[in-house]
Amino acid sequence: MPVDHDDRLHDREDTAIDTAPVGLTRRGFSGGLVATLAILSSGCATISPSEEGKLGAEAAEEVERTVGLLSDPKLVGYVRQVAGRMAQVAKRTDVTWRFNVTDDIEPNAFALPGGYVYITRGLVALLNSEDELAGVLGHEMAHVLERHAARRAGAATPFALLFGIPAGILGAVSPALGGIVGGTGELASGMVLASYSRDQERDADQRGIALAARAGWDPAGLASFLHTLEREEALAGHDPNRPGFFATHPATPERVGNVRTAARSQTRATAAPFAGSRGAFLQKLEGLVVGDNPASGVFLGPLFVHPVFDVALEMPTKWKTINTAEAAGAVAPDGDAAVVLSLSGDGDDPVAAAKADGLSEAQLKQLQRVRVASLPAARLVADTRSGQRAVLTWIAHRERVFRVTAVARVRDWGRYGAILERTGGTFRPLLAADRERLVESRLRVRVTGANETVAEVLARGGGTWNPAQMAVANGTTVDAKLQPGWPVKVPVSQRYDASRG
Ligand SMILES: [Zn+2]
Repeated sequence: MPVDHDDRLHDREDTAIDTAPVGLTRRGFSGGLVATLAILSSGCATISPSEEGKLGAEAAEEVERTVGLLSDPKLVGYVRQVAGRMAQVAKRTDVTWRFNVTDDIEPNAFALPGGYVYITRGLVALLNSEDELAGVLGHEMAHVLERHAARRAGAATPFALLFGIPAGILGAVSPALGGIVGGTGELASGMVLASYSRDQERDADQRGIALAARAGWDPAGLASFLHTLEREEALAGHDPNRPGFFATHPATPERVGNVRTAARSQTRATAAPFAGSRGAFLQKLEGLVVGDNPASGVFLGPLFVHPVFDVALEMPTKWKTINTAEAAGAVAPDGDAAVVLSLSGDGDDPVAAAKADGLSEAQLKQLQRVRVASLPAARLVADTRSGQRAVLTWIAHRERVFRVTAVARVRDWGRYGAILERTGGTFRPLLAADRERLVESRLRVRVTGANETVAEVLARGGGTWNPAQMAVANGTTVDAKLQPGWPVKVPVSQRYDASRG
């Protein structure tokens, strides 16, 4: 579900490396987390380690709830094995390490105060060795060990960050609606994470590779991975608004060179790798979902489909769409209207859910019980003091209540009112035909034959990367004749089967 980034209103206040807001990507959102991190960033210099740990724990809970973590025990267990050995070498009893892989397609890695370290599945898909994995983990661990205070979190308003929507359109809705629509603003906050100074990044590179070397890995692994990121970014077209690792961790040739030089002076301890050969390493990645994960919901054109929740919602056509762990949304091309589908709560009573969402007594009186796709539903149209109007629809389905929020300024209602009033009514359970359209890609390992190139391995069929992406992700070039028997990772597409989980 690639987000169509629109930089018009992207609220980036700068382009400098050291202050760029780190969007934790299209999957991350949560006003709560933004608030938490804003505290972190403003108070880091003075707060105590225990306060820092508490804030880190709160932010970690938000990451888990909103971005989602991979549960794949093979991969996550492996990452923890590698990280665990580095944690031993770090010898810091005051840090409780927790390592996780997030369900996020953008290549990214980040750490929260107190010892929470995350890498995304998008980053894992680009790794080519255990040394590279150790290098990335070491860098993030160094941020924790050095208690690098975030200078400040970005101030971008949630929708502005990912949708490029005027801040006013949703920002002022919440007071009059008891936070309901404000809640939808959380959808696309992009989780404005801590940003580090340029010196802190350099420091994390140096200390990170030293840690990797002391734990037995090749300290040049980080340089090699940064080089892959640099190539991947070039392939992606250097989108300046792309969230993720690039925002704070620009993989410039200069940085790659610095890390490579520093790696030469490191003394590497002797320790057996967990997956030393390329084949053994790629086996750890086998089965990883690449690209959209249907299990988290996907857009099929304007139709949002969530096979686990068994729901579909037809968004207005040609609107920008985004899907996150907690909500799916669409925004009009000019940014003047938005629709958001989210989970309101458990149960089978839409009115109770509306009440729990914080409607006032007066609003509850206006609530109308309706049916949507034969399901029990409740609907409310409400204006705010700041000139916005929202159509809210709560729909009960399979022990959950979903909420569709459709919002625009009252003065734009002539243009958008009809669409917004209609959208909540398109909610429905999934059809067999929807399920048949769901496809997922998982990494598979193929072994090269004599003189094959990555493009030829790809041409054997089923792969979803193009030859250039194959080359970058495998750390080779499109034309290189590979050694016979050299393992290559290929994302192979298959029909999504919910029963496989
Ligand atoms: Zn960093």
